[in-house]
Amino acid sequence: MASIFTKIINGEIPCQKILEDEQYFSFLDINPINPGHTLVIPKQETDYLFALDDNILSGLFLFAKKIVPAIEQVISCKRVGVIVAGLEVPHAHVHLIPMGAEGELTFDRAQRANPQDLAALAQKIIQHLK
Ligand code: 5GP
Repeated sequence: MASIFTKIINGEIPCQKILEDEQYFSFLDINPINPGHTLVIPKQETDYLFALDDNILSGLFLFAKKIVPAIEQVISCKRVGVIVAGLEVPHAHVHLIPMGAEGELTFDRAQRANPQDLAALAQKIIQHLK
């Protein structure tokens, strides 16, 4: 059965998309740890990030690098932190989380976002993509 994230890629589940190319897809997390929390995924459905082919894994971070400056321009933060967990959704992904302090990188802070706020934020981030 297709993962939730494959259904998002295929448009079967709605999302606030940030960026897509042939191999990768990114969208806002519906339960952000901080505003601007973005997920970056390969379209290839593999559970464990470190089981990805070398070129897909390295390309995932280069794809993320295109998005981080746009997040930083929209969300006031010290930097964009990264979490790799993957215990909830078995489709490899990287969490990009704008942060002001290390202690903020915890799923204990995750809260369901207001859909309108998420949509507005996605539009702002997209406008800052180069
Ligand atoms: P992990 O698998 O790394 O523990 O976390 C999976 C992440 O995916 C969680 O932060 C969760 O909020 C997010 N997530 C799960 N289902 C959906 C969904 O349908 N849409 C979006 N935008 N995010 C989701």
